[in-house]
Amino acid sequence: MEIKIERNQNPAPKPTDESKLGFGKVFTDHMFLMDWDRETGWHDARIVPFGNLSLHPGTTALHYALEVFEGLKAYRRADGKVQTFRPFENAKRINNSAKRLSMPTIPEEDFVQAIDTLVDLDQDWVPHAEGTSLYIRPYIIGTDKSVGLHTLNSALFVIICAPSGSYYPQGINPVKIMVETEDVRAVRGGTGFTKCGGNYAAAQRAGEIAEEKGYTQVLWLDGVERKYIEEVGSMNMMFKIDGTIVTPELNGSILPGITRKSILELLRADGEKVEERRVSLEEVVKAAENGKLEEAWGCGTAAVVSPVGWLAVGDKEYEINGGKIGPTVHKLYDEITGIQWGKSNDRFGWTHPVSK
Ligand SMILES: *Cc1c(COP(=O)(O)O)cnc(C)c1O
Repeated sequence: MEIKIERNQNPAPKPTDESKLGFGKVFTDHMFLMDWDRETGWHDARIVPFGNLSLHPGTTALHYALEVFEGLKAYRRADGKVQTFRPFENAKRINNSAKRLSMPTIPEEDFVQAIDTLVDLDQDWVPHAEGTSLYIRPYIIGTDKSVGLHTLNSALFVIICAPSGSYYPQGINPVKIMVETEDVRAVRGGTGFTKCGGNYAAAQRAGEIAEEKGYTQVLWLDGVERKYIEEVGSMNMMFKIDGTIVTPELNGSILPGITRKSILELLRADGEKVEERRVSLEEVVKAAENGKLEEAWGCGTAAVVSPVGWLAVGDKEYEINGGKIGPTVHKLYDEITGIQWGKSNDRFGWTHPVSK
């Protein structure tokens, strides 16, 4: 794919204090754009100065949520080089998401080439401090100029990048999560397995209520029986029960996380007992009551792993591992971040060099 580059003539000053980066508010000097229409397919791949998009007020995405996205990071290694983590998995997933929403897919090589070219150009924006990274947000929106809904005829693929602070500036602290019993996030046959903005819109209310009550995330149950655990806000869930690590199986309504997949591969390679199956809330509560719930954690690109110290079910709150981070979560965090930042041997070949 040929990518035209228009350099930003007024580059912004890079943030000087990397401890104050936060997440997703500061963006790099450039962005990637590529248009699609039904007759020509994808065309006009270009990198341009970061700036506002100009959209027709009738743009499909604004009315009918025809939007799919991805999230991955670029990491700066000790030798200064920059790398990403399993970007072809993101390429596959955005295409699975796009197919579900009847949106155009992108050749995997083009998706990764676009990220590589943009991150390479803006590589000085990849922060250096411990735990920091460049968050990469690719997304596709439907751009027909009509509020009449029909088969999509045009789309826009965008990639923006945001230097981001460490997820754990104060060290890894276990979080409090709350089982959601009112709203559901997704059902089988719906869009739960896709990374689409619409899923987040449906999750917003429960998230806000949980936050008001002092919980960081909502734990979603299945949308039909409301018995089985699905996932938390933007992370997949794992439990260590009586020596075995269990995680909800991918059933169509759960997002197939790349962190989830990597953790399962890692645990299996290390000979741990791992089960992907239906996990009922009842099973987890019973394990907690019998002292068999050793650890619980969420996993996703942003946090890698996030230990759950307290789980609220109705008006009961269960403490897990004394509200402290457990050995399995700790080990997983060290192993995965070790690979991502190039500190340990990439024994699975998961990293992808960006800068030559
Ligand atoms: C992105 C996301 C995850 C985690 O996926 P990763 O590929 O590990 O970052 C989990 N659940 C939801 C709903 C998500 O959007």
